[in-house]
Amino acid sequence: MDARQAAPAFNLRPPRPGWGISLPGLKQPSTRGPIQVLPPPDEVVIALSHARGCATPVVHPGDQVLTGQLLAQDEMASAHASVTGIVTAIEPRAVPGSPATPCVVIRRQGTERLHPACTPLDPMALPPVGIIRHIRDGGIVGLGGASFPTARKLAARTPVRALIINGVECEPWISCDEMLLRERAATVVRGTAIMMRALAAERAVIAIKVNMTEARIALHDALESSGAGDISLALVTARYPSGGERQLIQLLTGAEVPAGGLPCDIGYLCQNAGTAAAVADLFDRGQPLVSRVVTVTGAAIRQPGNFEVRIGTPLSALLAAAGGCHETPQRLIMGGPMMGITVDADALPATRGTNCLVAAGAGDLAPQQVEMPCIRCGFCVEVCPARLMPHELLGAVRSEDGIALDALGLAACIECGSCDLVCPSSIALTPRFAAARAIRIMPDEAGDEAP
Ligand code: SF4
Ligand code: SF4
Repeated sequence: MDARQAAPAFNLRPPRPGWGISLPGLKQPSTRGPIQVLPPPDEVVIALSHARGCATPVVHPGDQVLTGQLLAQDEMASAHASVTGIVTAIEPRAVPGSPATPCVVIRRQGTERLHPACTPLDPMALPPVGIIRHIRDGGIVGLGGASFPTARKLAARTPVRALIINGVECEPWISCDEMLLRERAATVVRGTAIMMRALAAERAVIAIKVNMTEARIALHDALESSGAGDISLALVTARYPSGGERQLIQLLTGAEVPAGGLPCDIGYLCQNAGTAAAVADLFDRGQPLVSRVVTVTGAAIRQPGNFEVRIGTPLSALLAAAGGCHETPQRLIMGGPMMGITVDADALPATRGTNCLVAAGAGDLAPQQVEMPCIRCGFCVEVCPARLMPHELLGAVRSEDGIALDALGLAACIECGSCDLVCPSSIALTPRFAAARAIRIMPDEAGDEAP
């Protein structure tokens, strides 16, 4: 057997029968070519918010800024200029998922120059707390979609035995992590090693889907040449949502994160593969988080692909880079079809959490069905990765019974959409659970990334 097919070091447990769902891949159109680096746009709108708050501006309208310059400071994740130019406004702007969030607007001007503060730093010469501070100051947030501040997550309150790098990307259509792993596997491995040092973790595993052949080969080669014997590779089922943080931990270790608890409570911590690459770029190239890879795809798109774009680039520029649309999109989705959000206008900017833009064509979306009464078939229970009883939750949502919602474990719902997909009565379960969760509880403190 080829060494590249060697068994992973982690004990993979098969999911229980019926767990999750099989979804069509839909990644092929966007993985035909390499990641394309887009030139900086004429204007960027940089959101200062992250999943746990918002940075405070340290620049003013009229200031000249260089790429990588600090725009706004925060105790969890700062924000930086993604282009060289002039600050034209600091004001609330619409960004994906929010009608008004504090933003810095920069009009590009002059030759692109990196700010002199952007210099490489040897992480091995720093104590763990110094690494975490540098990650905070570098504006690194989880690039899997949740935008949870990476420094906050690394400052785990309990010892972490193993760091898990999540490259599973099990949502259909999204392929930015897969392409990053194919092309920049060594950078992901390097970022993994840096975060292991920050956590004093004994080992790490990079998890990808079993069918990511090219990424597997690239990672195998990168691991071999890095000589990092404490980092291994694990191949997990392609069933959705195997990339959900809690589901992935269970698949890899058999251990369940307790309800209301965090992965670090049982000795594990997950970071996204793109986040690991961003951490490596911060230390080795001196580059704070000023760009990211975004998948642009969907049946309405002429040339689907992956693009490295400056943070704050208009979504319209992403669509244009992919050749534009050959039909009017039925829906523009940021993120994947299962957990993504509909974006109204393509004039919105890409944020640090923008991993995918789908311009859905006529054939991409199932026609809206009329909701029928629940027939208690149990299909939703069978597929729920969080072992919930969605039909019972539905009853509690309808009767606005908060005690029952808590007792039925609403907090553990990851809003994966699996129950909706299998419901023969076409009941929109997940939107109801999401609305109830938004009212009753804070988002997951663990900073779960999208599957
Ligand atoms: S799948 Fe739909 S119809 Fe079946 S039990 Fe669940 S909510 Fe009811
Ligand atoms: S959306 Fe929530 S209730 Fe429905 S399958 Fe996913 S985790 Fe379970």
